[in-house]
Amino acid sequence: MKNYIELALKTELKDYKTVSERFTPTIARLMHAGMGLTTEANEFLDTLKKSTMYGKPLDKVNLIEEISDLFWYCAIACDVLGVSFEQVQELNINKLKARYGEKYSDEKAVNRNLNIEREVLEIDLESFKDVQKKYTEEYLSQCKRDPNPQKQKVLLVNAIKCSICGDVLISRHKHDYKDCSCGSCSIDGGIDYRRLKGYHTDLAVYTDDHHLVIREVFEWGSYGKDGKQDLHFIKLKDMTTDHIKNIIRTQTLRTEILQIFNDELLYREC
Ligand SMILES: [Zn+2]
Repeated sequence: MKNYIELALKTELKDYKTVSERFTPTIARLMHAGMGLTTEANEFLDTLKKSTMYGKPLDKVNLIEEISDLFWYCAIACDVLGVSFEQVQELNINKLKARYGEKYSDEKAVNRNLNIEREVLEIDLESFKDVQKKYTEEYLSQCKRDPNPQKQKVLLVNAIKCSICGDVLISRHKHDYKDCSCGSCSIDGGIDYRRLKGYHTDLAVYTDDHHLVIREVFEWGSYGKDGKQDLHFIKLKDMTTDHIKNIIRTQTLRTEILQIFNDELLYREC
C-alpha cells in the first residue's frame, strides 16, 4: 500500500495544542507513573522471555527487583489519587469478594456483574474519604502532640461498612449481632471477638489509631447524669470534660480505656 501514511494521517487528531494544554503537573505525574508501570511490567516479562525462550537461568532477583520498581510507580500514582496502599489493597479484595464470594470459579469469572463491582469500588472510595477527612493536615495540626504513638494495639470499636448498601454496623458487646439492610453482611462479638461476614470495608478502630480518629468513633454508654435515662451512646468527642473526669475518678476502667480518656483530656488542653 503506497499511500498508507497519507491515509492514516486523515484520521489523526489535528489540535495538538489543546492536547498539550491538558498536560497539567498532575497529569504529568500520572503519565510518569503509567509509563513506569508499563516499562517495569515489560522488564518483568523480558526476564521471563530470556529464561523460557533463550534458556537462561531464571533470574528471580531481577523479577523481584521489577516488582519493587512497580511499587515505586504505584506509590506515585496513589499519591496523586489520594489513596494509601492499604486502601487500594482493601478495595481490590472487596471487589474480588463481590465477584467470587470466598473462592474462584470459572463461571463467576465469565459472568461478572460489572455494575456491582463498580459500585463496591465507589462505596469504598467514599468511605475512605470520611477517614481521610480526619487525617487532613489542617485537622491534625489542631492537636499539637500525639500522646503515645507506641501504644499497644487493642480493639476499641468493632465496626464495618457494607460494600453493597453502605450501612455502617457497630457491634458493641459480645452478643450484639447486627446485619445490614441488604443482608449481605453482618457483625458480631463486640470488642471481645470479631465475627464479620460478607462484603465490607473494615471500620474497626484500635488503640494505636491516631487519637483524632479514636475520638470521632469511640462511644461511651451512659444512663444519664442521674442514671435514670435509657442507655445511650455518646461519642468521645461529644462527652463533657467533667463527664470524662468523673468516669476516671469513679469507675474501674480497662487500661486502654483509661488511656484514651487521658489522651482526650490532653487533647483538649492543647
Ligand atoms: Zn448491605
